[in-house]
Amino acid sequence: MKISVIGTGYVGLVTAVCFAQAGHDVLCFDIDKKKISKLLKGESTIYEPGLTDLLKNSIKKGTINFTSDVKVSANHGLYQFLCVGTPQSTDGSPNLKYINAAIKGIANNMEDRKIIVNKSTVPIGMTNIVRDIFSNELAKRNSDLEVDVVSNPEFLREGSAVNDFLYPDRVVIGSESKKVQKEMSALYLQAGIPKKKIIFMSEKSAELTKYAANAFLATKISFINEIANLSESLGANIKEVAIGIGTDERIGKSFLNAGCGYGGSCFPKDIDALIAISKKDAKKDLKILKEVRAINNKQKTVLFRKLKKIYKGNIKGLKIAVWGLAFKPNTDDVRESPSIDIINSLITSGAKVHVHDPEAMDEFKKLIKSPNLKFCNDISATTELADALILVTDWDEYINYDFSKKNMKMNNMKIFDGRLCLNKQNLEDIGYEYISIGS
Ligand code: NAD
Repeated sequence: MKISVIGTGYVGLVTAVCFAQAGHDVLCFDIDKKKISKLLKGESTIYEPGLTDLLKNSIKKGTINFTSDVKVSANHGLYQFLCVGTPQSTDGSPNLKYINAAIKGIANNMEDRKIIVNKSTVPIGMTNIVRDIFSNELAKRNSDLEVDVVSNPEFLREGSAVNDFLYPDRVVIGSESKKVQKEMSALYLQAGIPKKKIIFMSEKSAELTKYAANAFLATKISFINEIANLSESLGANIKEVAIGIGTDERIGKSFLNAGCGYGGSCFPKDIDALIAISKKDAKKDLKILKEVRAINNKQKTVLFRKLKKIYKGNIKGLKIAVWGLAFKPNTDDVRESPSIDIINSLITSGAKVHVHDPEAMDEFKKLIKSPNLKFCNDISATTELADALILVTDWDEYINYDFSKKNMKMNNMKIFDGRLCLNKQNLEDIGYEYISIGS
């Protein structure tokens, strides 16, 4: 089946590559010409486990191609997947300028029927708005071409996106048209996704499902972080508490890892968006999500506050190692990462910060520039003569690191574990002061 994917970011590229490896005929379109020329050479523009191999295989098989020509893209696929960004506006609501531009690009260039599949995260009711934009644009061309619009929100997680796409918990299709439901099912069935995983619902329900899913997961994280802070004050251990509650099947184990807060391109933005949408479109105050957001913002500063307390406020001139810049392991995405807040606070307080990340250093260099921020390719260079190590991202290579004194060569043996992923006993046996969250 012929598919055009508009926007080759995290969602678009993964969608395109996964459909292409299943034998669909996929054309990717992006306004960023640099991305397109890189992709044409078989080079992935993002770090995502397994993606480069699938991309190269699909190029070899001839099932994927790339273009920066909107006309070619608009006329390639019956299915037009919208995968452009929906960043935050100043009032918290999603900025729809990329979606609008993508829609107009299709409407002004299409020459036959299209199914517009919206994978971008958009306000509830957007499918109708998209339909109206198509009617207006096509009317300007005196065209009566048929257009169907369907909401198909994406739930993949960066870091395991390929696996999540190929083996999803569910595929949500928001359309009440039987014809479109059948056409969408055919697409996913050919990609090997079992029929029982496909859930049909109304357009608005599909749009709200996406926001509600992210809001629930973020709530779970802020909940466990709040309990972690309580646990610490009362002398309990949050890791034990999390096992105690997570083994209850009604609660579930996932998203109960206490730590230094959530980040990423979705949770913070989608929480803000749902609060703004709810206020604007339904005159409802989403109090619970406002608390989730406030707890998370405070949690992002918890490690810095602990460090400041231990050093009695004298941080100026200290050398601090920071391990992990990405908002979670196995991605190069640094958007809204807690590392940003921590590093900014350290630099503002006069510390010299030496950082490492296996994949995200190039992205982070675009965010913070300072003579007091040094990027190190060699992990051990970050800790040499350091006064503390702060672990922000639980990459495997940090968890499995050799923490022996001769490898670390720290000035002050203090380790702040922001993800509760290191072995406290082992570190204390070596002679470290282990500082964490929730115990
Ligand atoms: P991204 O910023 O990584 O990529 C967006 C891409 O769209 C960019 O390459 C950009 O150049 C391109 N683009 C912008 N305008 C365009 C246009 N008019 N025509 C063609 N290309 C255009 O974004 P992302 O992280 O992939 O997110 C895309 C959408 O999916 C967002 O709405 C996001 O909320 C949602 N989403 C993201 C994730 C995630 O984990 N990243 C998961 C689920 C849903």
